Amino acid sequence: MFLNTLGVKEWVIKKWAKSNLENGYRKDEDNVQPNKIRDSTTAPTRSLHDFFDCLPKLESHYCRASTSKLYLEPTWNSKAHLYKIYKSDYCTTHNVEPVSIATFHKEFDKKRLSLYKPKKDLCDTCVAFETGNLTEDKYNEHIAFKNAARTAKTVDKESPNEVFTMDLQSVLLSPKSNTCALYYKTKLIVHNFTLYDIKRNQGYCYLWNEAEGGLTSNEFTSIIIHFLERHIDQFGLQNRSDIQIILWSDGCGYQNRNATLANGLYNLTLERGVTIVQKYLQKGHTQMEVDSVHSVIERKTRNKKINIPADYVYICKTVCQKAPYRVEYLMHDFFKKYDELKYFNSIRPGRSAGAPLVNDIRALRYSHEGVFFKLNHSDQKWQILPVRLNTKTNNATNDANDLPKLYRNRIKIKAEKYKHLQSLKATMEVDYHAFYDNLPHD
Ligand SMILES: [Zn+2]
Repeated sequence: MFLNTLGVKEWVIKKWAKSNLENGYRKDEDNVQPNKIRDSTTAPTRSLHDFFDCLPKLESHYCRASTSKLYLEPTWNSKAHLYKIYKSDYCTTHNVEPVSIATFHKEFDKKRLSLYKPKKDLCDTCVAFETGNLTEDKYNEHIAFKNAARTAKTVDKESPNEVFTMDLQSVLLSPKSNTCALYYKTKLIVHNFTLYDIKRNQGYCYLWNEAEGGLTSNEFTSIIIHFLERHIDQFGLQNRSDIQIILWSDGCGYQNRNATLANGLYNLTLERGVTIVQKYLQKGHTQMEVDSVHSVIERKTRNKKINIPADYVYICKTVCQKAPYRVEYLMHDFFKKYDELKYFNSIRPGRSAGAPLVNDIRALRYSHEGVFFKLNHSDQKWQILPVRLNTKTNNATNDANDLPKLYRNRIKIKAEKYKHLQSLKATMEVDYHAFYDNLPHD
């Protein structure tokens, strides 16, 4: 019947019949034994699952998205790239039949896997509106916030103020190369927090690896304060009341919008007699000048072999010939416990129900007059942040130089990661091995 009505060749029908049996597909489910239904995976699918299981995943705190998805280490450019390696490497070595690309995609989603992708490619809110999942009112409000931020940033760029954008680059891996051995092993993670001086077109990179520091507000505050102190000294900004120091960033909580950083910045304004303003871009529309630094570094490292984290330092220092980036390579003793500064405990603008939340803050201003906030960049007036300035504690800790160090020792990596890195030594020259041997581990 199929041959006559569909006009297809006999082998096509045979292939359909065979693949339906292999996939355990049975229309009349009543007649299928229960255990058959549950175990509908075929041998190739099972081996695909094994392949997925042995791919290194990023620990959840490296992924900003609050989803239950498992992010793969950023080794893969696309799912097609991953499929290609699965077919050419995994299936060949394990001598198994590869599944089709369609099955590959289906099982990938079923496993809740996701490629680690930079956060800036799409705006969830705009996509939700385009697909009819968001009201027009909400969308218009979102766009108004976006435009207000863009306008305010343009005004800042043309003002005499000091203006910076700052962001964390998506994770870097060490070692890195195109050898198959690296596909299935977890690597050491390297971070790069970058500030960009818009007035002078100068990039500043702060790099550290996961054995030297993590990603808490203490790390980010230590970097931002270190940067600002040097900048204030270099350009003679101390006690300059006519100039504001403006920091543009996304509104990421642990990185840019939290009480630890706010205490650090407020402390700095008191110490140096400066006014510091933090401004946040609208979520989903956080493209800014500092991104160009990251894309230059990404392009440069794409086909480059990285043996140890310091290789990234060299790349950052040399990649931009016109205005070489200033690079700091941080060790664990660089970071301070800024969360011990307790001028105030929270930056929440209100306490009562229905009051604005930390996430609603679009800008913060710190000066000797106190801490002020705005809920919209287009607001003319600053509102005072209702914080009780805790002067008693302030006396005890108001010298940031006296703050305790965040880490007394380097941070231990997991035993499994250490083991993987040990086996990856085979992909690099002997000179590099000692770095991996000396990593603290469980
Ligand atoms: Zn949007």
